[in-house]
Amino acid sequence: MNELVNSADSHVVEPLDLWVQRLPKHLRERAPRIEEVDGRWLFVVEGMPPRKMGGPSTETERDAREERKVATGFRPGGSDPDRRAEDLDEDGVWGEVLYPTIALFGFMIPDPELRWETARAYNDWLAETFAAASRRFAGAAMVPVQEVDSAVEEIERVARLGLRSVMLPMHAPSGALYNTDRYDPVWAAAQASGVPVSFHVGTGIDPVHERGPGGAVINYVEVGLGAQRTLAYLAASGVLERFPDLHVVMVECGAGWLSWLMERMDEAFEEHAGWVDPRLAEPPSFYVRRQGHVTFGNDGAGVVNRGFTGVEPLLWASDYPHPEGTWPHTQATLERIFAGVDDHERRRITFDTTAGLYGLELPARATG
Ligand code: MN
Repeated sequence: MNELVNSADSHVVEPLDLWVQRLPKHLRERAPRIEEVDGRWLFVVEGMPPRKMGGPSTETERDAREERKVATGFRPGGSDPDRRAEDLDEDGVWGEVLYPTIALFGFMIPDPELRWETARAYNDWLAETFAAASRRFAGAAMVPVQEVDSAVEEIERVARLGLRSVMLPMHAPSGALYNTDRYDPVWAAAQASGVPVSFHVGTGIDPVHERGPGGAVINYVEVGLGAQRTLAYLAASGVLERFPDLHVVMVECGAGWLSWLMERMDEAFEEHAGWVDPRLAEPPSFYVRRQGHVTFGNDGAGVVNRGFTGVEPLLWASDYPHPEGTWPHTQATLERIFAGVDDHERRRITFDTTAGLYGLELPARATG
């Protein structure tokens, strides 16, 4: 029998006309959208080169075209909560933390007005469509960080809308990195609202770093490295120490590297103590174990290293409905990566920690 799990990283697929419909009229012709060019679907977002979609199967593409709602090649569950729930039930997944697909690239929009209206329109749609449909869906709002006062307002607004996490760009704006105190009001607002702050790989920067030989593999590695950098900035600079109830989640970066990062940071903290500023009360790894998390789907090495990292930082995730995700083979994946892991630890990683962070507990069994 399938054991229900929670996915700490899944994706909605925004309707083709989401921003065309919802942006203020004067911005609509610049709306993020999907265009068909020479038979290929392209993301068109101001401020980055048009980007090809992932590789859909012929069958799902046909389904989607027939739906006439999401001609993106992803499964209809990307934008339809009822269809989505059917897919989750079939795969043994209970709850999900929902990230966008097109809006992942919205952080790169240079114009502040267009960037903010894009974020607010997405957050409204996510709350209305998924958060309102079921407690199973914990939506992560898109919150740009260039304008700190607006970010604080949006965090407070989306918490009221029922969204349960806020997504900041993995790559901070240049000249305003995450080790400065400039973002303290953002951390304080997230902490006060009780929402984890998440950083999805490939956000805040053009994820296509290399177009030459090896590019597809190199780029997949490169976006993952952003998680290591951001977690080090947050831990070593004292952000996690100053905001002890803040939880930060590095999303879709795998987990096998986490033990290396902890040792690397602690080694510098001890061996280069004369240069370390600020001098934290505990070594950096302490704060990562207490407040940091990483999501992974297929990464057996992260599970093997749990004796070093602890199990609390580890959050299993399906990445549904993206092509690198585990749907519809989630149960087989779990059997493989958790072979030999005791049930209690497995359940912490695949269900309980995510449930606690995002409110994805199973409902109490109905009585009578
Ligand atoms: Mn993802």
